[in-house]
Amino acid sequence: MPFESELYKSLIDNFADGVYFVDRERTITYWNRGAERISGFTAEETVGSKCFDELLMHIDGAGTRLCHAGCPLAATIEDGEPREIEVFLHHKQGHRVPVLVRAAPIRDQVGTVIGALEVFSDNSPKMAALQRAHDLEKIAFLDPLTGLANRTFTEITLRARLEELVRYGWSFGVLFIDVDHFKEINDRHGHPVGDQALSIVANTLKAAARSFDLVGRWGGEEFVAVLVNVGDRKLDAIAERFLTLVGSSRLPIDGTHTRVTVSIGATLADPRDTVQELVARADALMYESKQAGRNRVTVGNRD
Ligand code: GH3
Ligand code: MG
Ligand code: MG
Repeated sequence: MPFESELYKSLIDNFADGVYFVDRERTITYWNRGAERISGFTAEETVGSKCFDELLMHIDGAGTRLCHAGCPLAATIEDGEPREIEVFLHHKQGHRVPVLVRAAPIRDQVGTVIGALEVFSDNSPKMAALQRAHDLEKIAFLDPLTGLANRTFTEITLRARLEELVRYGWSFGVLFIDVDHFKEINDRHGHPVGDQALSIVANTLKAAARSFDLVGRWGGEEFVAVLVNVGDRKLDAIAERFLTLVGSSRLPIDGTHTRVTVSIGATLADPRDTVQELVARADALMYESKQAGRNRVTVGNRD
């Protein structure tokens, strides 16, 4: 089955999943790199042979060979229906690899089925464990309400940045951001609306940050931003941008458009700081912004 363009070929070649095409006779016409990786067989070894040759020898969990009875590709070519099953394929080195197989028909311009394609992904426990670890890591470091980094991850980031500052002199700054009169929003509109307001503020902060900066939820209605490679002026400018963007958003609350503001404390990290000292200084500066009337930035550094 010739490719319409080289672009498709290079796209499919770069899939992590295995992909192969067969014609109506189940002759393999294409075999991508993912398929090479998962099965150990190269395109040279597979293209031109039949998928039911002594090559892949798909079996199900009970050990039944599927090639002659129960081949998902044959069934899909027959009825034009996509299908998905879990099978074990035969790796070139002899062992069995559990794969999730998805078969789909390939049609010509008038809709006649002229073959099928199979996508298979490595379903082994090792892969599943990696995926699970990845998912858990994500859950462990994500604040569920706002989708921002949670406090644990923010602290880990601060520790890493401080270490870089000490070792390499890479400067960074911290913003402590607290929503103004947030209790009023909760009291007036209820906790779920308060949650919604927090998530809108979080989205604005996330969008306002540069790609290499981090905005995390520190707790309640408090956020901490870690801004790399900044000096005094840049730190102040970014803090002012955060302030303006939050303050100029209107939250659609109970049919009204409510304005929410934040107070910010901004400080540069000092090589003598611990994470606690650094955040406490930013927090104290934020408190100065509250005292001075809220909706403002206070910048200060360690003496
Ligand atoms: P200030 O301008 O001085 O910061 O006033 P404030 O009302 O924002 O400050 P305060 O610390 O008194 O109130 C914070 C409120 O935030 C109290 C708490 O109920 C609420 N809050 C904390 N976490 C959450 C949350 O996850 N969801 C909602 N809806 N409210 C929260
Ligand atoms: Mg607070
Ligand atoms: Mg507050």
